[in-house]
Amino acid sequence: MEISLQDSIGKSISKDIDFAYHKANLVYNNETIEIVEPIAVRGQVTVSQGIADVKLSVKTRMRYTCSRCLDIFEEDFELEIDEKVSKDEQEDENIITLEEGDVLDLRDVVLNNIYSALPLKVLCKEECKGLCQDCGFNLNHGTCECAHEELDPRFSALKDMF
Ligand SMILES: [Zn+2]
Ligand SMILES: [Zn+2]
Repeated sequence: MEISLQDSIGKSISKDIDFAYHKANLVYNNETIEIVEPIAVRGQVTVSQGIADVKLSVKTRMRYTCSRCLDIFEEDFELEIDEKVSKDEQEDENIITLEEGDVLDLRDVVLNNIYSALPLKVLCKEECKGLCQDCGFNLNHGTCECAHEELDPRFSALKDMF
C-alpha cells in the first residue's frame, strides 16, 4: 500500500486503509520470529501539505522462541500506530522524514513499528525458569534429577564472603 505525498500539495486527502499482507519472518536480535497470520492493517491516512498523518491498527499472530527455555509459543500481536511522516525534513522532531522519494509505503511504516514494539528479550512468561544448566531439562515442566541448591541471591552474596 503506497501513498504519494507529492499529490497533496495545496489540498488534503484522506484515505481509508484496509489491507492484509504476508510477511514470513522477522529477524530480531539474531532470533527469528515467525509471523503466522497475514498482517492486517486498518485505519486512515490523511495527507496534507506533503505530510501524512498515519493512524493504523495492526493485527497479526507471531510465533516466538523463548530466549530462556527455547520453548516455541504463539501470541496475538496488536499495535496502534499514530505518527506523521513528511517527504521533507520538518522542524518538528516528532515528524518522521521519508528516507527517499515522496512515496510512503505503509508496509515499511508497519514493519518499523512492529520492530520497535517487540520486547528486548522474548520470554514465554515473565517468570520462565529456563533450562537446567546441567541436563537441559525445561524447568517450567518440573524438576530434573540434578541437585540444585535454591540460592537466594542475598544468601549467595553472604556465602561468597565466608
Ligand atoms: Zn521460557
Ligand atoms: Zn538437570
